[in-house]
Order: sequence, then structure tokens, then C-alpha cells
Amino acid sequence: MRPFIVANWKMHGLKADMNEVKAIDSAAAKFDHIDVGIGLPATLIHLAAQNAGHAQIGAQDCHQAQQGAHTGCLSAAMLSEAGASFSIVGHSERRADQAETSRLIAQKARSLQNASMGAILCIGEDLATRQSGTALDFVAGQLVESLALADDTSLSPERLTIAYEPIWAIGTGHVPELTDIAAMHSKLRSQLVSSFGPAGDAIRILYGGSVKASNAKDILALKNVNGALVGGASLKAESFVPIIAAA
Ligand code: PEP
Repeated sequence: MRPFIVANWKMHGLKADMNEVKAIDSAAAKFDHIDVGIGLPATLIHLAAQNAGHAQIGAQDCHQAQQGAHTGCLSAAMLSEAGASFSIVGHSERRADQAETSRLIAQKARSLQNASMGAILCIGEDLATRQSGTALDFVAGQLVESLALADDTSLSPERLTIAYEPIWAIGTGHVPELTDIAAMHSKLRSQLVSSFGPAGDAIRILYGGSVKASNAKDILALKNVNGALVGGASLKAESFVPIIAAA
């Protein structure tokens, strides 16, 4: 399975940062056995797509509807036309700040799949859940809920990537024990196979949460860790490219 290393720029980035996109794109050309994605603010997607020939350009959210009276929102078709080939959905910051539910996130992912775009669907537990010892079951349940569509159908396993991001590890410098990451990814793999059959084995499961050059190699070597979703360390090519190299 090709590793997938994805940058999440969150609400960072102006045109002046296009040099970082170009440098990441050069690394994507060099490490051509790895898929590299850059999840950008929507304002930069078009320009970045014009400047990148190797890295996949993506968004960080997408509305679930194809069009309509949704002021300020962007549809999958709009993101695709701007040059995005994927979008992150269900990031914990959006689940918290915009009160997004797993049900809504499944609809957003479906909307992306319908537009032939990839969906990187994020799940992960908070610190209290981790400390209570129930993280494995909680996150597996969140995955099931985030795959389910209202009409009793499920998302397609095609163009689907899962990102396991423990909320307490995002932007904190704290990373779970390697054994805990491995246990979670193994649990999620079993759940994907149970949901999709053999197709569940081909879905990439990324780890996200304080990934940096110094810990990337050990994390990415774990079974069922098929890549990384990287926030802070992805804003500059000089800290992101070594993570690509570690894969
Ligand atoms: C993220 O928010 O997706 C993330 C992984 O952030 P960081 O790498 O900064 O922890």
C-alpha cells in the first residue's frame, strides 16, 4: 500500500506561502513511491493546483449538498473545479467548533465521493476517554457512525482514507505510546474489514497528532499505519519534507 502523507494547513497560508507548496511538491516528485497531499485553505487551492504537479491538492471541509442556499459554504464540485482532488472531513476541530456530527461527516464524505474526490475522514478520542480505558471501542464506534448514511447505506470504500487523530495529541507535542497507536490501528482495520469485507484491507489509515521528523519513522513503521496527517509540522517544507522522507 502506498503511504499517504498529508499536510493540514488549517487556517494558515497566504499567497506568499506558495514557495512552501512548491518545495513540498518537489519532494513529492522525488519520493514518487509516496502519495503526498496538502490540505489547504480554500483560498489557496486554485493557485496551489497551478503550482503543483506531483502533490495532491486538497481542502479541509466540504458541504454535504451539491448546491443550494448555504451561505459561505463550498460544494465538492466547487472544490474539484478549483483544483482539489480530496478533502479532509470531520477534523476534531470542526467536530468541536462547528458541532459537526458523525452523521453529517458521512454525508460530506459521500458528497466528495460522488464528485470523484477522495475523503480523509477523521476520528479520535479526547483525553478523558483515553484515560478511562475505553478509547478503542469509542473510536471504532465513531468510525461506524461516520461511515453510515441515513438511507441505511454506507460510504464507499473507494476514495476513502481514515485518519486516527487522538484529540489530546493534536498540537500538544504529546504522542500516544507506539503500542497504543498500533492497537488502535489494528482495531480500526478489523472494523473496516467487518464493514467492507476485503475492500476494508485496502483503505489507508493515517495517524495524526504531533507527528514530526523525530517520531515519524517509528510511527510510520507500525503495522496498519499507512501514512500521517500532519498539522503544525506541515506548514514549512523544511519540517514536513523529512516526514515524507521518513515514510
Ligand atoms: C491535525 O490537526 O490534523 C494535526 C495532526 O495537528 P498537529 O500535527 O499539529 O498535531
